Amino acid sequence: MSQGVRTRPEGSGQALSEAYDTALLDLDGVVYAGGSAIAHAVDSLAAARAGGMHLAYVTNNALRPPDAVAAHLTELGIPAQASDVVTSAQAVARLIADQVPQGARVLVIGGEGLRVALRERGLEPVESADDDPVAVVQGFGGPELPWGRFAEACYAIARGVPWFASNTDLTIPSARGIAPGNGAAVEVVRIATGAEPQVAGKPLPPMHRETILRTGARRPLVVGDRLDTDIEGAFNGGVDSLLVLTGVTDGARLLAAPPQHRPTYVDADLRGLLTGQPKITREGEGFRCGGWTATAGAERVELTGDGESLDGLRALCAAAWTAGGESACELDGGKALARLGL
Ligand SMILES: [Mg+2]
Repeated sequence: MSQGVRTRPEGSGQALSEAYDTALLDLDGVVYAGGSAIAHAVDSLAAARAGGMHLAYVTNNALRPPDAVAAHLTELGIPAQASDVVTSAQAVARLIADQVPQGARVLVIGGEGLRVALRERGLEPVESADDDPVAVVQGFGGPELPWGRFAEACYAIARGVPWFASNTDLTIPSARGIAPGNGAAVEVVRIATGAEPQVAGKPLPPMHRETILRTGARRPLVVGDRLDTDIEGAFNGGVDSLLVLTGVTDGARLLAAPPQHRPTYVDADLRGLLTGQPKITREGEGFRCGGWTATAGAERVELTGDGESLDGLRALCAAAWTAGGESACELDGGKALARLGL
């Protein structure tokens, strides 16, 4: 196994809000879900901020401009300014501005967030392939985006205009279930044109660059719920990460994470910002965290002991990630996770 492959969550003697200067917080599944604040988010963020931690909100969702996102957060009881919000619309606008002349026309397939971000970079949003755009940009347009918008993208791309996408998240959580995200809309255009977009959003470097440029973070901690965007984006940027279990990731997915999807820390929710993190120690063939010891057998990871269920999960991570090494662990964790109620 090469050095640098993470094989267990880290411990921290300090509260994470003291060990890091800036939290780069994902929104959906971390701070809110379906428009409402997630349990403990409001109080935990207030306490982290009172302790001196800078809070920034980093979202792949390009639909709403930062001031609308900040207003929503403020309404939920999490005071935020537009400048505290970083979106994939901003990241893709910078990516486009680096490649086209100042003032160039860009065909927009998406929402107001994209138009605002393009204007901020001195680019002119246009609505038709016949407006002579030099680039096409596609971002989440919400459920009311007309099908004809995809046709505009296809006409321009067929004429050789370069194509950009804010992000490629295939799904988006809604109050009524899982809905198609921008990645699904990008697939529509990809299938119709055979073209490939340049993508800005998490886990790719343009989004991380935009975040660091806008927040000025020196010792950032990425906080997210999704392994293939938030945690992989942190991994790609060489930044530590905290996975919270309030969103799309469950215990089984976490145990099966390949190296780039393994977070530095794991906690139940944003209260994890305010505490230290327990150290995991090797004990014979197993890994001990709190009252639990996890070992990897031939077919499954096993758990003995008792205590806090999160400590059991952390011990299981160490056993599974060590067994998996540079690959995803294929051992069954179902029985052990059921014992933890996870
Ligand atoms: Mg999320």
